Amino acid sequence: MNEEIIKKLCKYCLVEKELSEFYTQMQGGKLIYQTGCRQCRKDKIKSKRLELYEDEGYYYYSQPFKYFSTTQEEDVKEILITLGWIWNEEKELWWKPGIKDINGKWIKQNKQ
Ligand SMILES: [Zn+2]
Repeated sequence: MNEEIIKKLCKYCLVEKELSEFYTQMQGGKLIYQTGCRQCRKDKIKSKRLELYEDEGYYYYSQPFKYFSTTQEEDVKEILITLGWIWNEEKELWWKPGIKDINGKWIKQNKQ
């Protein structure tokens, strides 16, 4: 019996996981797997909030609230809701009290 399950080592939690535990991305016309597993990606986004970050050429938020795939879209929505963002169905935008108003206008904050 050929029981070859391809696994990949997650760079962050250092656990070998099945490929389905990793997000894919298109790079140079090829579909490749990311270095971190899905769970680590989520944890990383949560811990870094919505900061733009770059990881080996991959941009999570190259443009705010635009998505690379539907899987990612679901995850991003989940994270945004966790962080207190509210979806404005009518205007199709995210807003958060104290950060962005319901019309999508950023509220100025004093930097300390
Ligand atoms: Zn991991």
